[in-house]
Amino acid sequence: MSNWEENVRKVVPYVPGEQPKNNNVIKLNTNENPYPPSPLVAQAIKDYNAGLLRKYPDPASSALVDELAKTYSLKAENIFAGIGSDDVLSLAFLTFFNSGKPVIFPDITYSFYDVWADLYRIPYQTKALDKDFNIIKEDYLCDNGGVVIANPNAPTGVELPLEVIEEIVSYNKDRIVIVDEAYVDFGAHSVLPLIDKYDNLLVVQTFSKSRALAGIRIGMAFGQKKIIDYLKDVKFSFNSYTLNPLTIAVGAAALKDDAYFKDITAKTIATRERMKEELKRLGFSFADSKTNFVFATHEKLPADEIFKYLKEKNIYVRYWNKPRINNHLRISVGTDEEAKILIDALEELLG
Ligand code: PMP
Repeated sequence: MSNWEENVRKVVPYVPGEQPKNNNVIKLNTNENPYPPSPLVAQAIKDYNAGLLRKYPDPASSALVDELAKTYSLKAENIFAGIGSDDVLSLAFLTFFNSGKPVIFPDITYSFYDVWADLYRIPYQTKALDKDFNIIKEDYLCDNGGVVIANPNAPTGVELPLEVIEEIVSYNKDRIVIVDEAYVDFGAHSVLPLIDKYDNLLVVQTFSKSRALAGIRIGMAFGQKKIIDYLKDVKFSFNSYTLNPLTIAVGAAALKDDAYFKDITAKTIATRERMKEELKRLGFSFADSKTNFVFATHEKLPADEIFKYLKEKNIYVRYWNKPRINNHLRISVGTDEEAKILIDALEELLG
């Protein structure tokens, strides 16, 4: 009898939203951008010299990092680029949460945080959001091994005011506070300006949502040089090459098209606001979302029934059978046409 299984690092993996093979699905389940990336991205792919793939990529991803530095008025030393923000966040957990004390984050938040904590055997404690899904600030002013806050939060869509985050960062100056801003571009406020003031703050963002590039896998962290250098040390102890050269070229091209970025972001915000009105009219309620999704519950019909009904109609939204949120649906904001198909289907169901 072999017993090697006793020594396996056992984990319960994160389950991402379904990616149907079928193309005729209205896909509102993974918060992807409904618009294609900037035309400059298609051009960069067309212009890319495949012969360059013979060589290893630039470990510093400089072409992308320099463009990020320009876009966000930072220095390259303040930026770390990774393979999607999942990669960046996972590395940050591994790098910064080594005190043996519990890392804290909300009970309802991005469901990858506890997976990384388990993977790296980092103790953690969740702090209950209030009934309206707001963070209770005082819960984060305590002894702990680090803090993780998604702002705006997912899957709730709720934005925490900047001054509250600053108070949490300032109180926790002896440990790292990660602010995950995956959805910040859809009308919320970034804590990025605070990195000058606090050396314990790591701000994480992504190209997956507002820049319509979930498939290319680019995420980034912003912070003071010291925190970024520690992240790089761990990254380069793992694999010296972060992004492949085509991805680096694509990311840099996307950043050059600020007008396009602003245009698709404004369209998503406008559709979201119309969607909120329609959902309200149909008897849904939700916290005020500052993201590209709405987290809604219906006054009469249970969420799992609505979820199944929509799926039969080829409209995919996200549902979790988890305590406190098992009567909610997270509905990504698509195009106006997709929102109309969704609302028409709900109207048919709900009368
Ligand atoms: N943070 C939050 C809050 C998210 O919802 C997501 C998307 N699943 C991510 C991070 C990761 O996004 P990506 O790896 O595509 O950058």
